[in-house]
Amino acid sequence: MKVVTGTKIVNGIAIGKIRIYRAPCYDIDDSLVEDTGAEVARFEQARGRVQDQQHVLYERALQSAGEDSAAIFEAHELMLDDEDLIDACKEIMLKQRHTAEYAVQEGFDNAAQMFRDMDDPYFQARSADVIDLRNAMLDVLLGNDTDSMQGTEPSILVAEDLAPSETVKLDKSLLLGLITREGSSNSHTAILARSMNLPTLIQCKDIADDWDGKFAILDGYNSCVYIEPTQDLIDSLTARRNKDLGKEALLQQLKGASNTTIDGKTIKVFANIGGPADVGEVQTNDAEGVGLFRSEFVYLNSKTDPSEDAQFDAYKRVLETLAPKQVIIRTCDIGADKTIDYMKLDKEENPALGYRAIRICLTRRDFFKRQLRALLRASAYGNLGIMFPMIISVREVRECKDILAECRHELESEGVRMGRIEVGIMIETPAAALCADELAEEVDFFSLGTNDLTQYTCAIDRQNAKLEPFSDTHHPAVLRLIRMTIEAGHRHNTWVGICGELGADKSLTETFLRMGVDELSVNPKSVLPLRKIIRSLDLSKPIGQALVQEQ
Ligand code: PEP
Ligand code: MG
Repeated sequence: MKVVTGTKIVNGIAIGKIRIYRAPCYDIDDSLVEDTGAEVARFEQARGRVQDQQHVLYERALQSAGEDSAAIFEAHELMLDDEDLIDACKEIMLKQRHTAEYAVQEGFDNAAQMFRDMDDPYFQARSADVIDLRNAMLDVLLGNDTDSMQGTEPSILVAEDLAPSETVKLDKSLLLGLITREGSSNSHTAILARSMNLPTLIQCKDIADDWDGKFAILDGYNSCVYIEPTQDLIDSLTARRNKDLGKEALLQQLKGASNTTIDGKTIKVFANIGGPADVGEVQTNDAEGVGLFRSEFVYLNSKTDPSEDAQFDAYKRVLETLAPKQVIIRTCDIGADKTIDYMKLDKEENPALGYRAIRICLTRRDFFKRQLRALLRASAYGNLGIMFPMIISVREVRECKDILAECRHELESEGVRMGRIEVGIMIETPAAALCADELAEEVDFFSLGTNDLTQYTCAIDRQNAKLEPFSDTHHPAVLRLIRMTIEAGHRHNTWVGICGELGADKSLTETFLRMGVDELSVNPKSVLPLRKIIRSLDLSKPIGQALVQEQ
């Protein structure tokens, strides 16, 4: 048996086989070949295979998502027949005597660049399609088995690191637990792991390739993983896991109960989601609403910039299913660690302080209006709140509201039905927290994004794992800004919630209630545990003595 330690992100026990997740590798060598005809034959064979794959994807998408979404795969099939592209690749093989892989990389990259240089945004967006096809061709030529990256049976997935775009694509039904060598506790990947309630270890420096396929236990309680554990350990940790499952079952008894303290203070406990697929979790865990729908995951899950109709479908599905519960949808918060090829964002020195979130939306008005129109159209089907991220000034909020009003007028003149909505902003920059009085005059609600608020207040890059030892999630400066924001909101009849990870920190629930928070929005699995804590608090008792039941 081998024991390797890491940093726990999500507690719990996962028992099963290890699966090493390897991102496909596109290391292409530039050596010259003798038999150029053989390379052309390999190229043609790969082209045929990828065309077949695109056809299968087209049929699958047609069944599951309809003609609009499937059309992209039909376009891919056609692109692979493009004579200019094929000739360019063949020339690299026949005249320059390079391999098929090299020709694909060069030929497809040049084509992608050509699209990128066009003025029309539609054609610019096609460059991402060419890159997708390039990767599919290279996977075939290099023998990358992309289907089996995650395997077909449930396993504990082990990876160097995972980007949010990779994490969202994982088949959750095949995940028992997650272990990464890199990663930081406040990253979006960690947030996704929490929302899946998946036992997770990061910073596991001693991951080894030969773990692949071995039986293991991820023990979140002891922040370690046991490779090929002894039978005694398997028995005791299986018992521990069963106990956890029993506790979870007991929490189900709290479904339908109110989030009211013993002395009668009631708050809302909402859930954070990333898209329509998470609605089931909101219902199973009896959240009273959605306090943060991270709409950028709709964008991350799409191969191309999602159309107004595609977004409308996603928002409508969530609103309709959960009505009359409130659903707060945050407008696109792309940038920093959440990057998308088709957005074509420049590389930046300081992406967390850079061109992201509302800054992108306010400078790409058509992009922003597409989302706002989709949201307003969806508002007819439920109880919608719209929330703007990364706000630092009153000017920005007014600009957002003006564009929202412009979209409303357009839709009214088109005769589109819309519902009543609340408008709010995230308070996740010190600037917003310090200007909360002025900002509160502009909006119906605030939602404290404590992940970014902590990052910006403490100058701790939330993505940088090296800074973990310096990070203090309970930093007094952050708690003071939270208190100031709640008090400022209430002075102007603006309700205040917390949707960052701190909202689920049970050691702070009493503090937040005493500060007067109106809502906590947490990962769905934390809703019932939080309800249990709230119902055991008596705020009429002195600070520190309010927890009156055994936890
Ligand atoms: C936050 O910053 O606290 C937040 C909720 O937004 P995100 O984690 O998506 O940046
Ligand atoms: Mg944030």
